[in-house]
Amino acid sequence: MQLYSTNNPDLRCSLKEAIFQGLPADNGLYMPVEIPELPTAFIRNLSQFTFPEIAVQVARALIGPEIPKADLETIIRNAITFPAPVVNLGEHTHILELFHGPSLAFKDFGARFMAQTMSYFNREAAQELTILVATSGDTGGAVAAGFYQTPGIRVVILYPSGKVSPLQEKQLTTLGHNITALEVAGTFDDCQALVKRAFLDTELRTRLRLSSANSINISRLIPQVFYYWEACKQLYHRAKEIVFVVPSGNFGNLTAGLIAWKMGLPASHFVAATNANDVVPEYLKFGAFIARPSIPTLSNAMDVGNPSNFARMLDLYGSTWNIMKEHISGYAFTDEQTRAAMQQVFQQHAYIMDPHGAVGYLAWKAYQQEKSSRATGVILETAHPSKFREAVESILGSTVEIPDTLARLSARKKEAVQMPVNYIQFREWLINH
Ligand SMILES: *Cc1c(COP(=O)(O)O)cnc(C)c1O
Repeated sequence: MQLYSTNNPDLRCSLKEAIFQGLPADNGLYMPVEIPELPTAFIRNLSQFTFPEIAVQVARALIGPEIPKADLETIIRNAITFPAPVVNLGEHTHILELFHGPSLAFKDFGARFMAQTMSYFNREAAQELTILVATSGDTGGAVAAGFYQTPGIRVVILYPSGKVSPLQEKQLTTLGHNITALEVAGTFDDCQALVKRAFLDTELRTRLRLSSANSINISRLIPQVFYYWEACKQLYHRAKEIVFVVPSGNFGNLTAGLIAWKMGLPASHFVAATNANDVVPEYLKFGAFIARPSIPTLSNAMDVGNPSNFARMLDLYGSTWNIMKEHISGYAFTDEQTRAAMQQVFQQHAYIMDPHGAVGYLAWKAYQQEKSSRATGVILETAHPSKFREAVESILGSTVEIPDTLARLSARKKEAVQMPVNYIQFREWLINH
């Protein structure tokens, strides 16, 4: 698989290089040189394939011979271990549930596939690979679960003491094996600064092989293409026109949908749904992209003022606004509207949406109304409501059922290494453990 940098189409590299580097040296983002269309026979017969079989077909087309078929099948078998069911919510509205993985959010798809592909490309390395991650909560949980027991890789997660939720802390600190949590006596920015300094420490890097699990790594985007196909499979014989509605922050999820579309996904339109952090909906309306500092909201995983994957969206459209806005509609909503939508869906359908999915629901309703659309909407539900239990229970006045995976966590013992905001100590610990 060949990739180029969005800042320089002549800067090319392999998938292996792109995965270990994360970002091109020129600060662009990696994009596939070729996004091939899938055979029409495959698309017509989607319903005959399992989710992992679909994933293999899509990945084979994108990745090509860089990973041989048998190896790719093993990677997918280990990464795609949970379903992505489409559930019905009234005649024209469906929910694609992406929260059935270990950390109960769609980021599990990206984290698990990244872990498997990194481990694969690392298989002949003599030295262990150390992944450093600074987290304010959510990413760390998905990465920890994704890399858990991956051969040849250890993960060191730095989190700010007292500044992640109790549940998030359990997700970071109870796994053990190759996952170590460092509880840093500081802020998220302190954690990030320690990690950054380690990456810039050339002497340290002669001793340890370091890599990051950055959210813009191409290996996190590829598996997100799979579930758009899996959703179409489940609706194929019932829906003539499918519109995907994507609650968005950094716009990785939506970008993956656009890549699936380029591969021939039988969809007709995309809807970008945001909270008050609305730079992309504003761009789609007015043609100007104006990054802003992020605003805190109820759907906090989407509080992004300068979405990194926007560069990839622009690249897919050759920077032509007038085509992008024909393909994608954008809507933004307040927290008050989000709460009301959660209540409405609960009352009408006895279905509990999390705040992120509820922003998607609002965008779908807005789109239906604006276009008088008779299409079938598929709203991506990006997290299980129990991840935001306190907020959801107070908004709905009803209890949220906790899935077994989470319930089991609360009984497990926290194990974290106490770490001051001190680079020398952090460095010593990395070398000695
Ligand atoms: C990360 C996240 C999002 C935003 O996804 P992007 O790919 O960054 O647009 C939405 N919802 C939840 C629950 C998330 O964790």
